[in-house]
Amino acid sequence: RVRRAQNPKNAKLSQYLERGVDVKFSDVAGLGKIRLELEEIVKFFTHGEIYRRRGVKIPGGILLCGPPGVGKTLLAKAVAGEAGVNFFSISASQFVEIYVGVGASRVRALYQEARDSAPSVVFIDELDAVGRERGLIKGSGGQERDATLNQLLVCLDGFEGRGNVITIASTNRPDILDPALVRPGRFDRKIFIPKPGLIGRLEILKVHARKKPMAEDVDYAAVAAMTDGMVGAELANIVEVAAINMMRDGRTEITTDDLLQAAQIEERGMLDKKERSPEIWKQVAINEAAMAVVAMNFQDLSNIEFINIAPRAGRELGYVRMKMDHIKFKEGLLSRQSLLDHITVQLAPRAADEIWHGVGQLSTIWAETADNARSAARAFVLGGLSDKYYGVSNFWVADRLNDIDSEALRILNMCYGRAKELLEKNRKLMDALVDKLVEKKSLNKQEFLNLVELHGYIQPSPPSI
Ligand code: ADP
Repeated sequence: RVRRAQNPKNAKLSQYLERGVDVKFSDVAGLGKIRLELEEIVKFFTHGEIYRRRGVKIPGGILLCGPPGVGKTLLAKAVAGEAGVNFFSISASQFVEIYVGVGASRVRALYQEARDSAPSVVFIDELDAVGRERGLIKGSGGQERDATLNQLLVCLDGFEGRGNVITIASTNRPDILDPALVRPGRFDRKIFIPKPGLIGRLEILKVHARKKPMAEDVDYAAVAAMTDGMVGAELANIVEVAAINMMRDGRTEITTDDLLQAAQIEERGMLDKKERSPEIWKQVAINEAAMAVVAMNFQDLSNIEFINIAPRAGRELGYVRMKMDHIKFKEGLLSRQSLLDHITVQLAPRAADEIWHGVGQLSTIWAETADNARSAARAFVLGGLSDKYYGVSNFWVADRLNDIDSEALRILNMCYGRAKELLEKNRKLMDALVDKLVEKKSLNKQEFLNLVELHGYIQPSPPSI
């Protein structure tokens, strides 16, 4: 029943057709439920008749929203690939021209071609370049843009046989689009594609590794863990750079180390875009190093995978990635001791600031982690886990705010003392770690462990809690 795409009549003359698009959903990873929505779009092509017969409206356009490199273009191609239809594409910045009328005539030509060889997907990249609200840009550039946009609206409206040509557009700024574009019957369906999380990055790496000679024991999770904030395009690049690395060494398999090194290079690229003064770099390094050094002491937190002080989207400071038992954490199954350890780690930045800069020179760099510690301590007391209110019978005694707060404070003070002791005892390791971080901006597990080995790790006196 699937109507296979015809080769366009004037294939040679076709400017916008992309030939040989053979992308499948299996090439796009880490999408979770988003994939279901796109599978439905494929059905508009393959089962269009049924939709029409049942009076279900097929959307005129689908808007894929999200930052660059998350796979919007890839997804649009996969829709065409899965449905077996032609794929026409244009970048909106390409049809914003200085000469009035040029853009509009390109839009007309694009849709003419798409219709002539329907079924087809029309893909418009960076829709916001042309789809900004009309009248906002003055001068002839603005006039031209408005003319192009008007033409696009006409084309979007102009399909009787909906389902034969479906427009997919991508944008990172759905908020600035002209309201006329998102009216029913036009781009009336929005799909948001966020940056991938840990699992998403793992899946994306694996998809790209499929076509490469990977070593049997490659630790994808380690690479996923140290690529926080990266998108599919960057992850794909990491695999490419790793392959080049392998070739250069005359090896035949890509190893975990190739990938980790490539990730560092990709990371540097992101990093160099941001400037910080040497003092700030050092301050951030102390902040993160303190968490790592204190975490080292605790069983559940000691498996440090990555320390980073490079600014990343959504994060002002750096971060320490610890391999925790994520399931336990999510399900709230961490032990009482692990919770105390967690509080201690969250207080480490504050303790470090005091040690390195003195009480008179404190900053507020640790405000967020101190906040985490505070709420964890309250939850600890409220959950009936503290000494004083341990066990169910006593737990209910703590129903007065004062009781809870003073008990939480006691716990915070104890944990703080522990964090401070650990940092003071391991000052040499801290200093070395801070220097290395300032120099390299990020350290992987092995680099961190090398420093620990070099400078030793001194255990604190036995915990008193
Ligand atoms: P966008 O259109 O969102 O800017 P692209 O689709 O052009 O991003 O992504 C560029 C490349 O990055 C893709 O061709 C693909 O190799 C890789 N990529 C991006 N996202 C993914 C993903 N979710 N799964 C697999 N590869 C991806």
